[in-house]
Amino acid sequence: MSRFLSPSLAGLAPYTPGEQPRDAQYIKLNTNESPYPPSPRVAEAITTAEVEDLRLYSDPQLTGLVNAIARRNGLSADMVMAGNGSDEILSMAVQAFCLDGGLRFPDITYGFYKVWAALYRVKDRQIPLKEDFTIDPADYYNAGETVVLANPNAPTGIALTLPQIEDILCHNPNNVVIIDEAYVDFGGQSCLPLLAHYDNLLIVQTFSKSRSLAGARLGFAMGAPALIADLNRVRFSFHPYNINRLSLLAGAAAMEDERYFAGCIAAVVSTRQRVAAALTELQCKVLPSRANFLFVCCPGLPGGVYCKKLRDRGVLVRHFTDSRIEDFVRVSIGSDAQMDAYLAATADIIKEASL
Ligand SMILES: *Cc1c(COP(=O)(O)O)cnc(C)c1O
Repeated sequence: MSRFLSPSLAGLAPYTPGEQPRDAQYIKLNTNESPYPPSPRVAEAITTAEVEDLRLYSDPQLTGLVNAIARRNGLSADMVMAGNGSDEILSMAVQAFCLDGGLRFPDITYGFYKVWAALYRVKDRQIPLKEDFTIDPADYYNAGETVVLANPNAPTGIALTLPQIEDILCHNPNNVVIIDEAYVDFGGQSCLPLLAHYDNLLIVQTFSKSRSLAGARLGFAMGAPALIADLNRVRFSFHPYNINRLSLLAGAAAMEDERYFAGCIAAVVSTRQRVAAALTELQCKVLPSRANFLFVCCPGLPGGVYCKKLRDRGVLVRHFTDSRIEDFVRVSIGSDAQMDAYLAATADIIKEASL
């Protein structure tokens, strides 16, 4: 830290991303990326002519991408905004809606929420999940501050139902409720049908997981036109060219390939079910996941030890040190071959531990 750092940032604990090794020697199940490439239409959209056009700034209105997202979701374009990853959208939402209030979210959830609260000096209120790692909607009634919930939640994979979300929305008429649907395509229920009825609902989704575009950095928000206008006020005060030309094309192409998308989702969901059953067979505890990962506890093995032993066998998974979940690791759903290697490593580790 230099002596020039803003003193108010001295205590800031930044987000720690999952490891991105530069070599290919690991089976990488630690950052919830897709094991499948993006739709072939993405590569087709990135032509030489488009590369030459990189000399021009990108469209600050994000027109082609916003229109593709709006069309796919049956919305008007003024109900959609896109960002450089959903992380950018979420951080803009904290700036748009929380600077003079607070932000409420569960104690166990996406680690970035508390980092943004700290960065923008917004008061955060963390509500413990119930013993079984589910969310009690009543904890979010009449919050009097912005609420952000990942649905399905991370890293548990557990989802709220649509009626539960509606229950939270109708008990918060005077503040924004952000539903982070990063994983919703893998079996959760999107609250998109509620958008027509709630002007306080902001839905955030990403291209990183279900559309295999983590490296393109693309996310989007859907909400009432006034909420979207507020987000654009922040965006145009910060970075109007927030999405580069190639990613704008990639995103629109991916959004339009519904069949490819559905195929990837079906493959991930079927692999997830198979792996969850195999882990249960091995006496592991697996939370009921509706995401592209499993939250797994191996009998008699602390999560940190299990994670390290998997790494020794060439498999990267994610371990979190919060005391409530230290016995668990989060395992992304990879290809069937990758998951077979993970299951074999797990069986080996359990056998070794029981000797
Ligand atoms: C992965 C993830 C995001 C961020 O994704 P981007 O790559 O920035 O679009 C947001 N929220 C949750 C819960 C996530 O897991």
